[in-house]
Amino acid sequence: MSLLPIHVLGSPILREETTVVTEVTDEMRTLIDDMYETMYAASGIGLAAPQVGRSERIAVVDVEGQKFALINPEIVERDGKERAEEACLSIPEIYGHVERAKRVVVQAIDRDGKPYEIEARGLLARCFQHEIDHLHGRLFIDYLSYLKRRGAMNEWEELKAQYPGNIRHLIPGQHETDADHPEAEM
Ligand SMILES: [Zn+2]
Repeated sequence: MSLLPIHVLGSPILREETTVVTEVTDEMRTLIDDMYETMYAASGIGLAAPQVGRSERIAVVDVEGQKFALINPEIVERDGKERAEEACLSIPEIYGHVERAKRVVVQAIDRDGKPYEIEARGLLARCFQHEIDHLHGRLFIDYLSYLKRRGAMNEWEELKAQYPGNIRHLIPGQHETDADHPEAEM
């Protein structure tokens, strides 16, 4: 397995629509394994293919041990509303409160090519929504108010210098989460 470089805000692929997967190949299974490894190295709870520069409709999630490979995921039901803070592995050190559905039902295909359906609430439901957004070129900052987004972008102007070419290279064992914020980078 290998750690993949993470594309950060400014990389065009984060804004592109992904391509539906028609067959789960060994190459995709390797991508999924590498995405898990990269997500864990970054202390994240979710990671979508565009975040590692890939255009397949694939994401991985691990919320408190609830682990899912999501291929071609779709939200088929959503209920309720809940606001909570989010952070994105592709926009490090930027945080914002986002309103999401409280409960979702997601249909997807797993690593073995088998279809499944999962009902989720709370953080898992939030993570699914954040990752599925990534697969359609949407980022959590898109939901912030004009003023909040402008503030976040001003902060990012200074932070982005750390990521030449809009690429974030992870160093194993060196990522620490910010104690002031919940551990919900995805
Ligand atoms: Zn994200």
